[in-house]
Amino acid sequence: MKRPDDTSHIETSGAPKARRSAGTNLSVDLTAVERVQAMVLGWYAVHARRFVWRVPNPDPYVVLVSETMLQQTQTARIQEKLPLFLRQYPDFSSLAATDNATIIRAWQGMGYNNRALRLRDCARAVVERFGGLLPDTANDLRSLPGLGPYTVSAVLSFAFHRDVVVLDVNTRRLYSRLFGQLTTTLEVMPESQLLHVASEVYPRGRSSEWHQACMDIAAQYCTARSPRCLFCPVTKACRSAFRLAEAVPPRVSEPSHRGKPNRIWRGRIVELLRGLPSDQTMGLTELRTRLFPTEEETDGPWLEHIVAALERDGLIDRDQAVDSIQLRS
Ligand code: SF4
Repeated sequence: MKRPDDTSHIETSGAPKARRSAGTNLSVDLTAVERVQAMVLGWYAVHARRFVWRVPNPDPYVVLVSETMLQQTQTARIQEKLPLFLRQYPDFSSLAATDNATIIRAWQGMGYNNRALRLRDCARAVVERFGGLLPDTANDLRSLPGLGPYTVSAVLSFAFHRDVVVLDVNTRRLYSRLFGQLTTTLEVMPESQLLHVASEVYPRGRSSEWHQACMDIAAQYCTARSPRCLFCPVTKACRSAFRLAEAVPPRVSEPSHRGKPNRIWRGRIVELLRGLPSDQTMGLTELRTRLFPTEEETDGPWLEHIVAALERDGLIDRDQAVDSIQLRS
């Protein structure tokens, strides 16, 4: 197996902090790599999950759209939404030409509306700078707005079949458990070790297949909280099999109001504005009444803050002189 010396094939997403418990042995053992490769690819040949975006030679545009959708949205939802989105926006040109309000409407049900705007901005750059064709080099992809390290590597691997490492939260978890000897479900290897493992284990020439297979195994068997080692296709080669005690991650508090995170409220506001006919707007008072039929003292200042943030993020327009709010067009 060819193992390049340089790390130019490595693109990663933001790495979580490594965790380690007593009894954990993070020394990496790669002696079983070829056996693991055979297990993973053999399993994938029969059991690969079927998705509308997973085809032998996918359109790079579809790969980019689906990877953007997959960030924080369930696959079942994307199965349903992606064909509708592609019907409305079949290529970079049509996506580049759309306005904010229209794409936010098309993004309905996907959550995190900022992603839709970033994707549209990326499409504009692809049209302006690359003639409407997604570039196939890491440097050019990195230069596009909104494309982080994970998306760059996913596009290079899944769309252009390049030999690159695709390291996301799922592959990090799977590699940590397979090649380290962990004791709790919270632990992951330090990032430097993960990068080493990731660059060593994928079979050259089969990056796309390998990484999608690893993601499937991580999603279906090696889950974050309750790994199903008994049924997992790589149990016999896994150094952490049947050893992982379930551990609950510490709660991370996020800004909230009336017991709900602000991101949920932001989504509701966009949803309310999305439901307006295109020639109508909504005033702040009406918005507050629609959100909170029974008002509390803190609602007003909090809503001002949220509306200002939505405006800053380019999702809405507000004209305070006439008390009018609408999705940005
Ligand atoms: S055997 Fe268990 S810990 Fe190892 S990869 Fe499979 S599910 Fe994860």
